[in-house]
Amino acid sequence: MKYEVIAKDGLAKRAHMETVHGVIETPVFMNVGTVGAIKGAVSTEDLENIGTQVELSNTYHLHVRTGDETIKKLGGLHKFMSWNRPILTDSGGFQVFSLAGLRKIKEKGVTFQSHIDGRRIFMGPEESMQIQSNLGSTIAMAFDECPPALAEREYVKPSVERTTRWLIRCKKEMDRLNSLEDTVNREQLLFGINQGAVYADIRIEHAKRIAELDLPGYAVGGLAVGESHEQMYYILDEVVPYLPSEKPVYLMGVGTPANILEAVDRGVDFFDCVYPTRNGRHAHLYTGHGKINLMNAKYELDDRPIEEGCGCPACKRYSRAYIRHLLKAKEMLGMRLCVLHNLYFYNHLMKEIRDAIDCGCYSLYKKNKLAAMSEGEE
Ligand SMILES: [Zn+2]
Repeated sequence: MKYEVIAKDGLAKRAHMETVHGVIETPVFMNVGTVGAIKGAVSTEDLENIGTQVELSNTYHLHVRTGDETIKKLGGLHKFMSWNRPILTDSGGFQVFSLAGLRKIKEKGVTFQSHIDGRRIFMGPEESMQIQSNLGSTIAMAFDECPPALAEREYVKPSVERTTRWLIRCKKEMDRLNSLEDTVNREQLLFGINQGAVYADIRIEHAKRIAELDLPGYAVGGLAVGESHEQMYYILDEVVPYLPSEKPVYLMGVGTPANILEAVDRGVDFFDCVYPTRNGRHAHLYTGHGKINLMNAKYELDDRPIEEGCGCPACKRYSRAYIRHLLKAKEMLGMRLCVLHNLYFYNHLMKEIRDAIDCGCYSLYKKNKLAAMSEGEE
């Protein structure tokens, strides 16, 4: 892996990351395909057409349904879903803590109930690394606990200390798995995750500790889980300077276009979020002038594309009126076109961000973009 910062504008950085599955240009928005597919009948061929650089799959979901061992037998996740660009897998931790029923956290790991069939599953750092190794993703995430945003200090501190101990175990296990002959991707990269809820001092201490482990990349986790945007920006201001600047910084689960513009300005270069897909499935579409709700009656006779000048497969060919009609008639194509437009919008936003950093005009670009988007077409 080679990560090279090729331009900086303030704290915003523009980098080039070479992986075994190809180059990632950052800042990048990863497109979330929970179970190895983007919800909304979007294929990997579609992803290639809308400029997706990295696909993100959820370890927990693939582990409980179909199973990582089956996927390994079929040659790994890349081959299974026919996608040859980079894939990032999360650790499963977030879903274990948010989705799964009844759970018990111990030093060794977490016992929980599958949300599919209720069976008891145990997952700790070693299990998470094994599952992600079976999937053979490009980037694997460390197994951590994501405490609720409003958790008390007394809960967060020991939780973060355990997350550090878990990270050391993840690293050891990943090194072992990468050394085995039959491992799908022997160059799998491990990113560590910073936690500490909204307590800057706990987060800074943690950032310093995990930076010492010299991992290929670092994430800021546990944000966008209920705290305000201002708190999120404050935490980024405080913590990002303590993460190695010559490594990628990933802000997990974020966010709106405005969140991304602000976080890039604070040194973040990897993002993922379900907003574009989830909103697309509900006819909420992103444009340069704010979001629109295509179900509104005023679009019934609107023969313009969702957004003039947009290069996505929906806008190149179909009108607002037609897509609205499809949605009303509950034709799957309607949802699919909306998801494609929204993902294209995010991917294209990232391209504009990269271009703005390249030319040293990021501040002005951000100001204009935020102003235009807050006009709100809705
Ligand atoms: Zn479009």
